[in-house]
Amino acid sequence: MSEQIPVLITGGAGYIGSHAVLAFGAAGHPVVVLDNLTTGRREAVPSSIPFVTGDAGDNDLVAQTIQEHDIAAVVHFAGSIVVPESVADPLKYYRNNTGVSCNLIQACVTAGVRHFIFSSTAAVYGIPDSVPVPEDAPTVPINPYGTSKLMTEWVLRDTAAAHDFNYVALRYFNVAGADPQGRTGQCSANATHLIEVAIKTAQGLRDDMEIFGDDFDTPDGTGVRDYIHVADLADAHVLAVRHLIGGGRTAVLNLGNQRGFSVREVIETVQRISGRSFPVKTGPRRAGDPAGLVADASTARRLLGWRPQRAELDTQVADAWRWQQSRTKEQ
Ligand code: UDP
Repeated sequence: MSEQIPVLITGGAGYIGSHAVLAFGAAGHPVVVLDNLTTGRREAVPSSIPFVTGDAGDNDLVAQTIQEHDIAAVVHFAGSIVVPESVADPLKYYRNNTGVSCNLIQACVTAGVRHFIFSSTAAVYGIPDSVPVPEDAPTVPINPYGTSKLMTEWVLRDTAAAHDFNYVALRYFNVAGADPQGRTGQCSANATHLIEVAIKTAQGLRDDMEIFGDDFDTPDGTGVRDYIHVADLADAHVLAVRHLIGGGRTAVLNLGNQRGFSVREVIETVQRISGRSFPVKTGPRRAGDPAGLVADASTARRLLGWRPQRAELDTQVADAWRWQQSRTKEQ
């Protein structure tokens, strides 16, 4: 089928990338993974998938891979994603996210790859004036991570204006869950994200956990976020490639479920699903945390026909719990 074009997935051994590899495979696309394995895990990618170990910013390697596999679209996940680290080491983020992306986009333009899907983030909005946040809300990131991603969006915008090149930048809200079939999931060396921290506490791998602030202007005083299942997120990337190869226009799209859950609600859900209670302390706010971040993701639904299948927080937590339990047993 002409639609099933070969796709190069950078960062395909990471949390979101490894789910995208499965989604593109299930949709019938030949897939090639490029990952330098700094944070990715080789075993997150099925051994049947061609795997190139290397950097997405390595022009010669990318050019060779594109040619060898007849690549027609690039889906770019590779990058650094830890917000506090980006504050401590901004140049790493401008190098790994913005710099590497410039090289990769250049390699695509040179090789004639016209379609590009980019992992962006709700962090480009900084602290939004109001929620839900539409794509045309002001982009005022408050940390180098968000800035490094926004700069890449600008590089894409200007490249698409100058060359025969189009793209979809997907701004993710809070990614959660794991592959429903248990093939892959999140494996952070040092968990910082709420659901992973709560699950590790439920597993007894931590003594307790902390709520970062309960004095926000939200219904229960704790931060509100829009959680989206990683498999639904992966599906949106397949639809975005289909959109571009079908002649669809370049787009910047939010991906979220348009519904917020508070930190307390998330912790209660983890306790209920795991059947384990654990100590929860309340501490001060974490620097730079907005009170609420909820997506207006109506454009992705309309333009891509995207319909999240696992919008329930219970489903997301249950999949993440099953995954973390299976990993803990393995170790
Ligand atoms: N959070 C918390 N305790 C933790 C980790 C996170 O209270 O140990 C809160 C955080 O302040 C935010 C929400 O949980 O309100 C989601 O944070 P996370 O780091 O998962 O994602 P972010 O929204 O920062 O991208």
